[in-house]
Amino acid sequence: LENNVLFIGAHADDVEIGAGGTVAKLASKGYNIWLCILTEENNKKKAAIRKSESKSAAQVLGIGDDKIMYAAFKDGLLSADRDSIALLRQLVDRYGCKPDIIITHSHADSHNDHRAAAELSLSAFRESVILHYSIVNSAIVSDYHPRLFIDTTSCKEQKKIALLKHKSQVSARRILWDDLSIVETAFGKWIGAQCAEAFEVTVQRGASSFHKVVRELNDCAFHAFWHSLLEDRKLMNIHGLPVYRKRKEYDWPSDKDRDGMACLRKAFTDRWFGSPPVEEYNCATERVEALLYKHDIFLSGGAVSNTISRNYFNHFRGVRYIIDYDMPDYKNIRIFDRQELCDINAEYEKDGFEGMRPRIDRSIITIMRNPLCLGRHLIGCMGIHGFGSFAGYMLLSNPVQLRIFLDKCTMPIPEGIGGYQIIVNFDVKLCLPCWDWSTFHKMPIC
Ligand SMILES: [Zn+2]
Repeated sequence: LENNVLFIGAHADDVEIGAGGTVAKLASKGYNIWLCILTEENNKKKAAIRKSESKSAAQVLGIGDDKIMYAAFKDGLLSADRDSIALLRQLVDRYGCKPDIIITHSHADSHNDHRAAAELSLSAFRESVILHYSIVNSAIVSDYHPRLFIDTTSCKEQKKIALLKHKSQVSARRILWDDLSIVETAFGKWIGAQCAEAFEVTVQRGASSFHKVVRELNDCAFHAFWHSLLEDRKLMNIHGLPVYRKRKEYDWPSDKDRDGMACLRKAFTDRWFGSPPVEEYNCATERVEALLYKHDIFLSGGAVSNTISRNYFNHFRGVRYIIDYDMPDYKNIRIFDRQELCDINAEYEKDGFEGMRPRIDRSIITIMRNPLCLGRHLIGCMGIHGFGSFAGYMLLSNPVQLRIFLDKCTMPIPEGIGGYQIIVNFDVKLCLPCWDWSTFHKMPIC
């Protein structure tokens, strides 16, 4: 990747509004930033003012004068016809810009120039990765589905200063400060940052740099976590069978492992680029063991509900925490700590029906090299009860939680260790997972 990033805006201030923080961030990281402004105002005097404003703003964000291109199409009349496409290509060519990534408007916009800019970019730059920002003033919010998030917290002030350089727009109250701030805060919440800019992602046929681009640019911990484990491969989820007991699991009407699976499935559907990588098999599927020797595995459910956990995981060397139980009838389920040789139990309370129900359930999250297949990983999510497994799924689906997790462990798993384990506590009433770093365990290579 040559790191040439071309930002395209229909009007002089569009890039600053939609992606100003990203421009500043990428410029400071050493990316080669280009800016192309497609239209200019019909009134000569106004056009000159806006041109000079855009130069001042670009300077604030770290774009040099020689990297700004003005296509000078007529304001309000932008279209993606053959001549416009040719003109845009020639202009970019003349500046010697060979963009690796193009960042432009979204189609989810009620302004005709903005939509035309998106269309024009798609046609002029084929075989490319194109990211789409939204303009708060004209966004069609119901149609805007961003998947790539850039943490712009550190560039917030710089973006504001750049926007203030568009004096004619500021005085005409065309820059909607409050709305912009609300949107950036909301995007930030997606990834656990104070504020962020968000982008839709278009991948055209032949765009070879796609995965590298999105991995480098995206600040979403969900992607950082899963991409580092899977790259572009599939993930085989081998899950347990529901354990039906005489009594219902209280006010939880369904089987919790399955709720967890739905949670992860949704996270991949909402966030992943391209089709979700997860394939689901229950542990009783014929020849399911064969998957262990070939793939990245997600093993869910402990040794009671999942025969693969029981017959394989519980016997892997180097694993510290496993789900243990008493035979013959799988009673007294608990976590067994093989290093300290002690049990870690769930906490229970009387349920009013002469029974006990879990108040705090616990589960084991394991991220390790797949001992049965070189170069592949095994992720384990195993609760003492179903609640615990569900909590594990919640953590592994949630970018905010994963961000905290990634701060502690390094991904992908570094040389010299086999992986990580941690115990997650789950408050059943509050439906709240949390973990205790004292149980964070680096596994030796086995
Ligand atoms: Zn505009």
